[in-house]
Amino acid sequence: MDEQNVSDLQRRRFLKLSAGALVLVPLVQLYGCSRGEQEAAAPPAPPAPAGVEPPAPVEAPVAADPPPEPAAESVPADMPRVREDEPTAQALGYRHAASDVDQARFPRFQAGQNCANCNLYQPGADASWGGCPIFLGRLVNAAGWCNSWVPKV
Ligand code: SF4
Repeated sequence: MDEQNVSDLQRRRFLKLSAGALVLVPLVQLYGCSRGEQEAAAPPAPPAPAGVEPPAPVEAPVAADPPPEPAAESVPADMPRVREDEPTAQALGYRHAASDVDQARFPRFQAGQNCANCNLYQPGADASWGGCPIFLGRLVNAAGWCNSWVPKV
């Protein structure tokens, strides 16, 4: 191949590349412009109105502590006391002192049982006397006992 042919070949290759570049450059510019238009077409976020706070995030409600238990009413100390000779007391073997219980008649009685450790006993304002639903409205002695005694739970 002579020198002239080599030069022609290089010129043709140069012209081909230039023509390709001439086609590609406008295509790239076209792509870039259309992309910019898409980004410009996106709506901007609406501005917050002046002086208006954005709403605070809603938090899950927290369980409140349960209300305190109402204080149990104390059995008043001035209620009348149960009499050992009244019919209900006689029938149940109630005695003001558990040591006086007739064990032959009330075999359920066991040493150590008394009103203070009975589940039905309601401590009162007076430490020695309290309420009992068996003898409603009257006081029984904490050291007493009757045949309805049930262990404290
Ligand atoms: Fe005492 Fe219990 Fe009998 Fe009431 S039921 S009188 S508290 S032993």
